[in-house]
Amino acid sequence: MLAHYEHLANSDQEDAVLKLHNLKKDEPQESILFSKICTSCKSRNTSDQSYCMKCGNVLSKQLAKIREARKESRNSDVKKLEQKVSRKINNIESLLAEQQKLIRELVDERK
Ligand SMILES: [Zn+2]
Repeated sequence: MLAHYEHLANSDQEDAVLKLHNLKKDEPQESILFSKICTSCKSRNTSDQSYCMKCGNVLSKQLAKIREARKESRNSDVKKLEQKVSRKINNIESLLAEQQKLIRELVDERK
């Protein structure tokens, strides 16, 4: 008696016998229900794949979300840096303008 319930369909037994006599090859069980279709190149990938075998596109929604979040955070970091640099440049430009003004005033005083 089996330790736990197992449903053995006729086709299972048939498969087992055919495999035993090398009449049926062990094909990779690629379920259409659980396969992932690449959104980029439309090729079919097995459910355990995170990236498309053909084009490398991210297949896992969770992974795609993580990547998107990382990208957004990187973009916001870049924006912050750009703002910082632009503020510094503005400061330097106004300092230069002040110095030029001072130099002009000094030159004018000497005349
Ligand atoms: Zn693909």
